[in-house]
Amino acid sequence: MEAWQKALLAWYRENARPLPWRGEKDPYWILVSEVLLQQTRVEQAIPYYRRFLERFPALEALRAASLEEVLRVWQGAGYYRRAEHLHRLSQQVVALPSSYRELLRLPGLGPYTAAAVASIAFGERVAAVDGNVRRVLSRLFARESPKEKELFALAQGLLPEGVDPGVWNQALMELGAVVCLPKNPRCPECPLAAFCRGKGDWGRYPLPRKRRAPEERLVALVLLGRKGVHLERLQGRFQGLYGVPLFPPEELPRREAVFGVRSSSLGEVRHALTHRRLLVEVRGALWLGEGEDPWKRPLPKLMEKVLRKALPLLAHAGVVPLPDA
Ligand code: SF4
Repeated sequence: MEAWQKALLAWYRENARPLPWRGEKDPYWILVSEVLLQQTRVEQAIPYYRRFLERFPALEALRAASLEEVLRVWQGAGYYRRAEHLHRLSQQVVALPSSYRELLRLPGLGPYTAAAVASIAFGERVAAVDGNVRRVLSRLFARESPKEKELFALAQGLLPEGVDPGVWNQALMELGAVVCLPKNPRCPECPLAAFCRGKGDWGRYPLPRKRRAPEERLVALVLLGRKGVHLERLQGRFQGLYGVPLFPPEELPRREAVFGVRSSSLGEVRHALTHRRLLVEVRGALWLGEGEDPWKRPLPKLMEKVLRKALPLLAHAGVVPLPDA
């Protein structure tokens, strides 16, 4: 074992917070704690952990209960899908399987939770990489943007021989939870300070992950008239360009009524703008107006995509020619 590993384990023995699931070996109890901690802070999770296990102390008790009852006991902990998953899982297995691979197949268990249960309850040598471990290892080894797989391989390679892997995993997590904090890590008190490559510039390790903006749903209505497609002058960021009507889905009935059409779906297109991601449902309808050849107008990229989606149908109708590629 390397010196930093010894230092971490010694620190953990002295400093681990006395949490109710600490030292627990029952896989089901460990699972309940891990599932609760997926989206809930430690202090908040403790009362729910106690209440849940008081009412359902074993998998059999959970299996015998109705989902409604399970949800009632879970009430207040939030993210009810977690309770649903636990209940579904109790219907699927008589006992929790003892290997990481098998645990991974159960509802609601991702790689982290499966590894936590496998290592803590069953002593399997598998690294549990949560957000805390990701941060500690990225800083310790000065990795700016480690990929999930890379990080898992690194963590797996660091499991020391002859040490309970559950204890090791918890030691790394604990360090991340109380010392190697996301902002202002407490480096002077850290048992790994002498070994840490990233401590002088901890903000870089790991670099914040770019959050993807949620997709915004819109509808593009392609109206096929006698001479082509109905186009409008666009406003806002597309000022000066042309396109088909583009609007939020809830406006569809009103827009159809304005043009006197009933549209049908022609598919979807995705489009990324600087700070927005759009998911646009392309709808088409035959329309009694005139319309025009859209390719003679300046179109933003998004409208080109929309029209290319609608185009096979438009071309089929023989009204709008396919543009030269
Ligand atoms: S020395 Fe600082 S940055 Fe490095 S592991 Fe410890 S707390 Fe984190």
